[in-house]
Amino acid sequence: MGLKMADLGIPRNTIQVLQKHQFVFQKKYGQNFLIDPKVLDRIIRAADITEEDSVLEIGPGIGTMTQYLAERAGRVTAVEIDRNLIPILEETLADYPNVTVVNQDILKMDVKAFAEGEGRPVKVVANLPYYITTPIIMGLFENHVPLESITVMVQKEVACRMQAGPGTKDYGALSLAVQYYAKPEIVANVPPNCFMPRPDVGSAVIRMTRYEKPPVQAKDEGRMFALIRASFNQRRKTLANSLGNAPELGLSKEKILQALEKMRLPAAVRGEALTLEQFACLSNELSK
Ligand code: SAM
Repeated sequence: MGLKMADLGIPRNTIQVLQKHQFVFQKKYGQNFLIDPKVLDRIIRAADITEEDSVLEIGPGIGTMTQYLAERAGRVTAVEIDRNLIPILEETLADYPNVTVVNQDILKMDVKAFAEGEGRPVKVVANLPYYITTPIIMGLFENHVPLESITVMVQKEVACRMQAGPGTKDYGALSLAVQYYAKPEIVANVPPNCFMPRPDVGSAVIRMTRYEKPPVQAKDEGRMFALIRASFNQRRKTLANSLGNAPELGLSKEKILQALEKMRLPAAVRGEALTLEQFACLSNELSK
């Protein structure tokens, strides 16, 4: 084909590969391929890849970003669900012996076992399929996969929710879940015309740097997250009402009001006003 190294991100080259293999896009797999070298450079810089790194790429597509990663990392493992992309990847990644392509659904893969086998925390880099952004990211965190950072393209609105702080409209259970495990930072906004085909939504690149230890001490992590979910289930209600009406928590309204008083929070406070630290404190207080 006469393609140079790491130049699939040029639209003409992507089109050439797709035509040669008569590739048909599968909407159900969230296939929007990157066709902007500047955006690819930005992702790679944010991911901060060195020769010592083992990178896990989720959804390599035709291998556009995989080539960039392979030129910098020690090893790249690229997990792709669509078997029609495998022969294409064999061709586009033929010059990169440090890449392993795995034809699997990332949600069914034992990522923890894979990462443990790498001998050092992995860096996850991906232009994610948007239909499963949250299960992928929360799966990585909640299963305690040994990882250093996650640098991913996601829907812009989701990136804003991940990074949001208390009292903002985007703040919610996802913000708190992400911020319990990692420090999020949006590094670029990416318009639809950087992809082929163009997605219906705006996108953003977000880097999440994992904390070695959570920034707050919750005695029972699971219970704190149950509390957080219930607090944001009914955003317009006061925290005391939302929690009091959640049968799964088994809490009386008196007990909740007492805990709020102890924490010097107003009885009518809403969940969206509480910081992660306050949620941890409330959870510890309520399990006394
Ligand atoms: N990395 C490529 C790029 O930037 O051009 C493709 C990104 S595209 C947004 C998402 C990719 O994830 C597609 O190749 C799609 O087939 C793949 N994918 C979708 N669901 C997946 C899953 N459950 N496990 C692994 N890969 C998946």
